[in-house]
Order: sequence, then structure tokens, then C-alpha cells
Amino acid sequence: MSNSGFLVVVTAPSGSGKTTIYREVLRKNPELVFSVSYTTRKRRPSEIHGRDYYFIDRKTFDRMAADGKFIEWAVVHGELKGTERAQVERCLMKMKVCILDVDVQGALNIMNEYPDAVTIFIEPPSIEELEKRLRKRKTESEEQILVRLRDAENELAYRNRFKYIVVNDIAENAIRKVEEIITQERKARS
Ligand code: 5GP
Repeated sequence: MSNSGFLVVVTAPSGSGKTTIYREVLRKNPELVFSVSYTTRKRRPSEIHGRDYYFIDRKTFDRMAADGKFIEWAVVHGELKGTERAQVERCLMKMKVCILDVDVQGALNIMNEYPDAVTIFIEPPSIEELEKRLRKRKTESEEQILVRLRDAENELAYRNRFKYIVVNDIAENAIRKVEEIITQERKARS
């Protein structure tokens, strides 16, 4: 086990199965810390405030952004999302591995500020499969699905900027690969 903390930035087009992957990695490895983002997006019924996101209003978000509380923030699918600096810094100070779920813009910004961050791009097997998954989960409207598919095409263009690319064809394999990456990075830093 390494004694140095580092960031693991996980990015993927919406519907790639990223949430399932990192949740399982976190469940199996309780020493890992998840950075809970702030968002102005409405909470989905399955989501819990403080676990999935901190759901806040626009005014609060703007104030936090103006006060420099975020490492990065972005408009994602029309809603504001931001990574809290204090959480990430606390995690690194405690020498922990911190998992961040951000979009491509967020990942590129974090790479600038934390060049040591381990960046992982979770790739869907194909755009057709992505569309199928988005429709199946029924959390977005038709209009939102189309926005997410368009955003996915743009995001895929940045995949080579990431240190690792993990194709999510079979979830168990992708979970194992992410765990292997973290183990390998720990070893490299110990
Ligand atoms: P969802 O609305 O489905 O929860 O998330 C949509 C996208 O927002 C995902 O791609 C996720 O990675 C991204 N996201 C979540 N939190 C943050 C954040 O703090 N910063 C940025 N830039 N993107 C985020």
C-alpha cells in the first residue's frame, strides 16, 4: 500500500456505464474516497444529497464559484457541476486516493492543475450501444438523450488526452481494469 495520495479522474460520455464502474470500485475498496460534486441539476429519485451530489441552487453555486471553492466547474448538459477544492485537498493531505467523476472539460482542467492525476476515459463499445443504454435507463427525455449523444461524439474526440482508456463492453472487466490501474499507480508512487 502506497503512502501517497493521488487523484483518479474518471470521465466518460453519459450512458457509458461509468457510474456503475466506479461505484463498484469504491464498494470493493473502502479506503478510496469519492469527491462529491456540487450541481444545480435536479435530484433524481434514486440520488441522495451528499452521496451522489450536493444539490444546490444557482445562487449558491455562483457564490461558491466566485469564492474560488471549486477546482473546476463546467456547464454539463445545460446544468452547472463543480468539484470542491476542500474535499480534494483534504483527501490528498490524508494521503488517500480520491476518485473524481467529471466530464471532459473538467478532466482537462484538473490535468492542468494536478498534472499528476491519473486520468481514465471509459469508452462505450459504440455510439449505437450508448444510445441503447441511454434509452434503457429512462432517466432522460428524448431531447436530453439527443443532447447527450451529441455531447458524447464531442467527448470521444478527447479520449487520447487521457492516460488510460477502458472500454466498457463487459462491466466486470472494466471494473477489474480500473482496479488494476489504481493498484499499478499506487505501486509506481510507493
Ligand atoms: P449526470 O447529470 O448524469 O449526473 O452527470 C452528467 C455529467 O456530469 C457526467 O459526465 C459527469 O462526469 C459530469 N460531472 C459530474 N460532476 C462534475 C463536476 O464536478 N465537474 C464536471 N466538470 N463535470 C461533472
